[in-house]
Amino acid sequence: MTCLYGQEIVSVASNGKQASVTVRQDQQDVTSTFDAMVVCAGTASRTLASQLGDSVNIYPVKGYSITVNLLDEASQAAAPVVSLLDDETKLVTSRLGNDRFRVAGTAEFNGYNKDIRADRIRPLIDWVQQCFPGVSTRSVVPWAGLRPMLPDMLPRVGPGNKPCVFYNTGHGHLGWTLSAITADMIGDVVLQSMGSASKQPRPATLTTASA
Ligand SMILES: Cc1cc2nc3c(=O)[nH]c(=O)nc-3n(C[C@H](O)[C@H](O)[C@H](O)COP(=O)(O)OP(=O)(O)OC[C@H]3O[C@@H](n4cnc5c(N)ncnc54)[C@H](O)[C@@H]3O)c2cc1C
Repeated sequence: MTCLYGQEIVSVASNGKQASVTVRQDQQDVTSTFDAMVVCAGTASRTLASQLGDSVNIYPVKGYSITVNLLDEASQAAAPVVSLLDDETKLVTSRLGNDRFRVAGTAEFNGYNKDIRADRIRPLIDWVQQCFPGVSTRSVVPWAGLRPMLPDMLPRVGPGNKPCVFYNTGHGHLGWTLSAITADMIGDVVLQSMGSASKQPRPATLTTASA
């Protein structure tokens, strides 16, 4: 197996029998063909899907996080060690080792825009100060990312219109949580479609999604 990293895909196509991917290398476009293709490109999946004749209506839903550096022992003792979900504010937290505490949340519809807005970061800091007054917020690293989300909030996991094209994308706010199961599901679908019977296929349908 060959893994190619750091590739910029400029276009994809399929003639129904093979899938082709064109990448830009040293200002030149290089096209490779494959037996099959699984599209899993986050919010860019929508554009790639349209090149393949599929409608995958993924929208970018921006979220923000702060990582609070726990620089002193008092802050390290005051920050929670278990993950939390504050249902009222819809904020979630994770303790990253001894000296970092991450708080994430918010859903902003602002296109493909990754600007980090101070007025979105401030409530996250305020929340930490209110809920965990012993934690110093002197050192905070802000971040913003785009959740690839479909209107029904379920990922698209399954075949496209053309044989040899598949999708495993659109996991929205639960991409990490669902990554293992949906990878397993799409693996079954690809195996089934490509004619291998080494695994018993299961239907590629997610029926539930948690908060
Ligand atoms: C603030 C925030 C908090 C979150 N918290 C959680 C959480 O607690 N639990 C959870 O389960 N999920 C969480 N998520 C959601 C999770 O991060 C996403 O669902 C997940 O990252 C989606 O993974 P993905 O691989 O499908 O897409 P992405 O992570 O968007 O990856 C897509 C990849 O495709 C690449 N790509 C796109 N176009 C091209 C191209 N033309 N050529 C080459 N490469 C390309 C991109 O560079 C990128 O590496 C959170 C998201 C945010 C924003």
